[in-house]
Amino acid sequence: SFSAEVVPQAPEDPMFGLSRAFKADEHPSKVDVSIGAYRDNNAKPWVLPVVKKADEILRNDPNLDHEYAPIAGIASFTSKAAELILGADSPALKEKRVTSVQTISGTGAVHLGALFLARFFPGTKKVYVSNPTWANHNQIFSNVGIPVAQYPYFSKQTKGLDFDGMKAALSEAPERSIILLHACAHNPTGIDPTLDQWKEIAVIIKEKNHFPFFDSAYQGFASGDLLKDNAAVRYFVEQGLELVAAQSFAKNFGLYGERAGAFHFVTSPAPDAPETTTRVASQLAILQRSEISNPPLYGARIVSTVLNDAQLFAEWEENLRTMSSRIIEMRKLLRAKLEELGTPGTWNHITNQIGMFSFTGLNEPQALKIREEAHVYMTKNGRISMAGLNTNNIDYFAKAVDKVVR
Ligand code: PMP
Repeated sequence: SFSAEVVPQAPEDPMFGLSRAFKADEHPSKVDVSIGAYRDNNAKPWVLPVVKKADEILRNDPNLDHEYAPIAGIASFTSKAAELILGADSPALKEKRVTSVQTISGTGAVHLGALFLARFFPGTKKVYVSNPTWANHNQIFSNVGIPVAQYPYFSKQTKGLDFDGMKAALSEAPERSIILLHACAHNPTGIDPTLDQWKEIAVIIKEKNHFPFFDSAYQGFASGDLLKDNAAVRYFVEQGLELVAAQSFAKNFGLYGERAGAFHFVTSPAPDAPETTTRVASQLAILQRSEISNPPLYGARIVSTVLNDAQLFAEWEENLRTMSSRIIEMRKLLRAKLEELGTPGTWNHITNQIGMFSFTGLNEPQALKIREEAHVYMTKNGRISMAGLNTNNIDYFAKAVDKVVR
């Protein structure tokens, strides 16, 4: 019979362990650049003004109740979420080749996609993820029995994209592999392919019959421009590729804890594509039912309220620009300060990278040393959340980096 004594101790999640250590640290100058959550210039969480407005609208709606959402989620949310990630004029939407399911934020969307592929993807399954990638990708896919392999992504020499390495690995991967791609603002490196590079990637994926799995956690948050940030997904759909996309509203709406997200399946163009899509939808519904039954209401209602109202939508875009431009400003400042200090190495990658994170190039001993000596909390791969920096702590931070690099 089962005895709980056989259960081994699991390690603490490194990210949440770091947060805990930061909270316990009493040093007045401590800096948290670990977790990927937006902070304002006072290092405080920021409730988007447009989210406050949507919340007000919802609270004053006498018709809202707490009944179950449909299994696939709130339709006014999922339909607008699909338009957002695919583009409102997407051929796939016109041709009714998209089915969307509301999920437990981006994590739940990646999981639902992985579960679906574990069940229905033909042949020997393998997913290729970038090296490095969001750590959770590895366990989400291996938890459903899909082996994980890596393609090169980060070049230590240039601190930019190892495009040749990436292309070679995608070309050498067995036909019909699942290829996980970060739609924009790659986590943890902050390095995205250019649109021309995306086009080359699409050619290889098509030639090899690979299956693209987009993870989109930062649309609008990266550049401040929703259309710029979904360009890769739109391009792949325009090329007629069948693909899936996991979409999170945690970062771009600041709804981290509300778990608003969606999973989208885009069937390739064919006369019977709408029927195929309907069958896919039916299977997704069965999987969703056994996993969570019904997705949560609040976050999706907030997002739906904003996406379905032109004026609120415009305000949201303004809020997105506030967040992305503060981060871009911090990148410029940090690079300038390090260059001013004459910190050994080159620092142009700080401003070349995009989105929430920067891969500083600090190695593990340096990341540990800066924590111990300067109370600066970054992950041991040298990744920093740019949102943790502000005009009050950036001097201190730059000097701390300078000191550990020397
Ligand atoms: N994918 C990537 C690449 C991410 O960085 C994140 C957020 N850390 C997610 C997915 C999903 O996050 P959430 O479940 O909070 O939406």
